[in-house]
Amino acid sequence: MPKFDYQCPDCQRTEEHWVDFEVRRTPRPCPCGSFMEWQFPLNFEIAGFEPFYHEGLGMDINGPRELKQILKANGMVEAGDKVGGARNEEKSVHAQKLDKQPLQGISLSDLQRKRERQKEIGDNMRVGAVTPDGKRLEPRKLSDYPNAR
Ligand SMILES: [Zn+2]
Repeated sequence: MPKFDYQCPDCQRTEEHWVDFEVRRTPRPCPCGSFMEWQFPLNFEIAGFEPFYHEGLGMDINGPRELKQILKANGMVEAGDKVGGARNEEKSVHAQKLDKQPLQGISLSDLQRKRERQKEIGDNMRVGAVTPDGKRLEPRKLSDYPNAR
């Protein structure tokens, strides 16, 4: 849940409140009897996106649109709050928070090549078998076995 600033248009009082992103624009009661209005956050990431290494995806993220597309393509959603993602959601003093990681030079195509290599290794893996009566079978590709998916 992000923290937002509210200001009363009548008495100019300002307060900070932790509210759900979806309801941030809902006016909040002011002690003066009026209602405080949501203030557009100036410290927000409106200045631009800072590229970072996404440890969950295992690749560099160069823009918010790229992150959104990659998450969507993989059927994933960013956990935590809608703005800051999962970071800083853990409130425990024992939590080990991970800061934004510096770029590692790993692109989506690097990741895809790695996945293809791993699939190839899996497909070419040879497995031997022993029948119930003790006969050794010639090792063959895992995918050649009847119960292989
Ligand atoms: Zn007021």
